[in-house]
Amino acid sequence: MTGTAPDPGTAAAPPQRVGSDSRTTPGMVCAHHHLYSALARGMPAPPRTPTGFLEILELIWWRLDQALDLDIIEWSAKLGALEALESGTTAIIDHHESPNAIEGSLDVIAGACAEVGVRVDCAYGVTDRHGSAGARAGLVENDRFLRAGGRGHVGVHAAFTCSDETLEAAAGLAADHGTGVHIHVSEGTADLEAGYRLEQLARDDWLVVHAVHLDRDLPGTIVHNPRSNMNNRVGYARPAGRSNLVALGTDGIGAAMLDEFRVAYIRHREDDVTATPETAWSWLEAGWRLFPEALDDTVVWSYDRMDPWSLAFTTGVRPLEVVVGGETVLRDGRPTRVDAEEIRAKAAEAAARLFAKLEEMP
Ligand SMILES: [Zn+2]
Repeated sequence: MTGTAPDPGTAAAPPQRVGSDSRTTPGMVCAHHHLYSALARGMPAPPRTPTGFLEILELIWWRLDQALDLDIIEWSAKLGALEALESGTTAIIDHHESPNAIEGSLDVIAGACAEVGVRVDCAYGVTDRHGSAGARAGLVENDRFLRAGGRGHVGVHAAFTCSDETLEAAAGLAADHGTGVHIHVSEGTADLEAGYRLEQLARDDWLVVHAVHLDRDLPGTIVHNPRSNMNNRVGYARPAGRSNLVALGTDGIGAAMLDEFRVAYIRHREDDVTATPETAWSWLEAGWRLFPEALDDTVVWSYDRMDPWSLAFTTGVRPLEVVVGGETVLRDGRPTRVDAEEIRAKAAEAAARLFAKLEEMP
């Protein structure tokens, strides 16, 4: 089933906000995740302290992604999917990069999520960082996965690490598959030219992630990742000022969307004291335009006032039961399809192997 992502411009309006007496919602959607980073917490310190966003990429993330192999990816994705389920998130839009293990990586992620019982939309982040052959291999992996019926987008790392030819090829491949491109856009000042370079390529079904320093309007859904943006000190994206549909992602820092909603609200409020939680809640609801299947899922929460004003100031709300596609996948807060302790233990083993590889890197 290729091209299942609806055009956000024409999709049905989101459902009415869940009532203030209800403890049940549809499944939450994380509109931008990196499941491969689930094992990164506690990783060895980088060779030196990064002093800006580009160095955070170079010294942390671009070293980590080179150390990934399919086994590490599998346990990272299983842990990330488990933690999503334990947070009431039933649908993840993932963006993946593993330059030394590209072929088959999207199948590994899709399989891990299916095993846990979480929906996933996969993309391989194409880049010319490792030469044009690397970019080609990334395009091939997106094409292979989509052609085989996987749910996904065509991933691109970011315009500033891609040639014009690669950007055009990714846009064309996505159009051929009836889906959009999932791309980081102007996350930091290293990517200031993204608006100019993508203006003729972007379409309504693209996922335009971050848009912190985007200097013009682009079509597509903007995915706002407030906690990640603060962690990387890239600046405030001011998504409320955009005319695009805005959805919320975590950029790999878990998949607890109620947490991300709270951070999104409080960051908005810090910028504009007239901001209300309803705006950040609308960004959360936009996830259902991107992943409408999650509307069929139900989450019963530990709290009976699942409305934006109550949740903005109530921490620690957790799911008690989660039903995905008619199957109860979380009961009494515990997964039914997998053994959470086993996943955590195997993920810890994979993390130890990953950290050892990082220690050996120059
Ligand atoms: Zn990201």
